[in-house]
Amino acid sequence: MKKQIKLTRIHCAGCAVNLEDKIREVDGVKNVSIDFVAKIVNLEISNHAGNDIVEKVKECITKFDSSIKIVDTTKEEIQEKKEKAKKIVDIVRVSICVLFSIVAFFVPIFWLKVALFSFAYLNIAYEVIYFAFYNLIKGKFLDENFLMFIATVGALVLQEFIEAIAVMLLYTIGEFLQKLAVNKSRKRIKSLMSIKAESANLILNNDEMVVDLGVVKEGDLIRIKPGEKVPLDSVVVQGNSYLNMSAITGESKEVFVSEGQEVLSGSLNGDGVLVCKVLKTEKESTVSKIVELVENANNNKAKTEKFITKFAKWYTPIVVGIAVLLAIIPGICGADFSVWIYRALVFLVVSCPCALVISVPLGYFAGIGANARKGVLVKGANYIDMLAKVDTVIFDKTGTLTYGEFEVEKVYATENSSEEEVLELVAYAESFSNHRIAKSIVKKYNKNINTAWVEDYKEIAGLGVIATLFHEECVVGNAQLLKQQNVEFEESKEVGTIVYIAKSNEYLGFVLVKDKIKEDSVEAVKELKNIGIKTISMFTGDNKETAEEISKRLGLDSCYANLKPADKAETLEIFKKESKGMIFVGDGINDAPVLASVDVGVSMGGVGSDIAIESSDVVLMTDEPSKLVEAINVSRKTKRIITQNLVFILLTKVAVMVLSALGFTGMWLAIFADVGVCLIAILNSLRAMAFKKKKIKN
Ligand code: ADP
Ligand code: MG
Repeated sequence: MKKQIKLTRIHCAGCAVNLEDKIREVDGVKNVSIDFVAKIVNLEISNHAGNDIVEKVKECITKFDSSIKIVDTTKEEIQEKKEKAKKIVDIVRVSICVLFSIVAFFVPIFWLKVALFSFAYLNIAYEVIYFAFYNLIKGKFLDENFLMFIATVGALVLQEFIEAIAVMLLYTIGEFLQKLAVNKSRKRIKSLMSIKAESANLILNNDEMVVDLGVVKEGDLIRIKPGEKVPLDSVVVQGNSYLNMSAITGESKEVFVSEGQEVLSGSLNGDGVLVCKVLKTEKESTVSKIVELVENANNNKAKTEKFITKFAKWYTPIVVGIAVLLAIIPGICGADFSVWIYRALVFLVVSCPCALVISVPLGYFAGIGANARKGVLVKGANYIDMLAKVDTVIFDKTGTLTYGEFEVEKVYATENSSEEEVLELVAYAESFSNHRIAKSIVKKYNKNINTAWVEDYKEIAGLGVIATLFHEECVVGNAQLLKQQNVEFEESKEVGTIVYIAKSNEYLGFVLVKDKIKEDSVEAVKELKNIGIKTISMFTGDNKETAEEISKRLGLDSCYANLKPADKAETLEIFKKESKGMIFVGDGINDAPVLASVDVGVSMGGVGSDIAIESSDVVLMTDEPSKLVEAINVSRKTKRIITQNLVFILLTKVAVMVLSALGFTGMWLAIFADVGVCLIAILNSLRAMAFKKKKIKN
């Protein structure tokens, strides 16, 4: 059993450690850790301890230092207690109301009957009445409380006491169930994403303390015990273990880590004990970014959600208007006033739009949660909509469809140079570049590079590098770059990525590097076709030969080569007319312009890469393009469920409204339709969260 005691103040971390020792001596305390910053004593209490154990610990604390004050209960506990109390009050209210109504029903004296019914009514309705007027004052005219209030007061005036009370009763019970369902589902969705550790074991002068993540600084040492979540991004300095990263990537693949390797927050530690040096503080760690992102996803509202809000604004006044007409016009034309007023009131009860207002956002929230669980971060409900209707997918090549791990295949030199010189100069030129091509060449060169010989270094995105090497200007990059610099050379027809070099405008030769297609890309393209994506294309800055080879092997519909980052955005226009929705998938490196001008920008820069997370609308946490297929499937399902709800709710409401206007339904059925429909819609929304992994068909 776990318990918390909150303190108002505690002087130093040292006292905390001493106090811990004292508390541990208390009989029945299994373990204790003091969160120095949050000022919370976390107790682990053994099962056989008495009920007064917390009191004993409190006593122990005040004895240890009388200046330490104890806060009675934490905020959440107070909140929880309040909610529990409210539940009990609600049950009592409902019971009293039912009891008084029954008694009133049998009382023969009219004035007593009215008094008893009124009491029963007020007892159940006072909250609704309060909120009806409160919202009215706040300018929220005609909210659901107000609708209920008018409808029931109307019924009372018509002396339909039982009906008025029944409506209020059902409404109260319905609201109660709704709140329960919504809270439960929110909690469930949240717990799916509860990948963040709550505290870290900080190592301070050989002592270990459990602390809040917020206090741990870069460079601090922490211990990660078996079965604990990695609290902050850090690097292992001692020990080894298997980590399960499924919480961030959606895949339960175990990864072995040992000294010198980085571990990402949110992964789950296996059997080993790790001592790690913290690399990033709480705010900057991967897991916080993910959680923040998913929570903020609520801010990007989908069109459907916005529509619902607008709709609710217009809908209520219109319905009230119709109800007023129903109540007055037939009466004026000679019909019985009381019959039509009653029908108008029933009409009002049905009209309540809460089912729409609750179930639609909940559906999107569930869809975003389901995606997150699969390792796909969707930054807003609007992108769920877009993903669901996408029909064109464009991939970047390097690092997206291919591994981006280049290997040098061949070095070619003209008569004016030698293979050694070509490789050396290219390696020197690339020594400052972070491009994957550059790294592969430097690796192949495998000698020390004295960077003092590299001056005026300039990298041109999507083309290559220009730098002064050994006091001579060198141009190192693809054919386009050399043409741009007016170098005379013969273009090679080799398949692969070619890095040409020219020194002082004289062509010297090239280095041929090759990349491999991801196995997953083949699968992804096939599966995208299967689920009905119309166009799959590839954009690349690489040469035509390589692009065409890859395109053929993957079965793409088209490919566009020799594109600089800015050209990629322009080339999109070709597809814009034909397409209902476009996705661009890139690794986030120099793709920003395209990612920004497409309907949904998807990046997959590998687990935890900042650029990938920041520059796009949807992030695939693993490097597999096939994740996109799952994201599209989950989004389609979410969208389908939301549409189902909309249709179901609107149809039922319209049907019951028409029936009530014609006098076929009583208020009872009306309130049942309203509350019941809402509950069904909520439960349906939750289905968006349960998503079985579909086997990829061959
Ligand atoms: P992709 O469009 O496939 O993602 P990039 O935009 O990163 O590829 O690069 C496009 C092309 O530009 C590469 O294929 C290569 O020919 C050239 N290039 C880019 N950076 C470098 C570099 N540092 N050294 C040599 N060539 C480069
Ligand atoms: Mg790229």
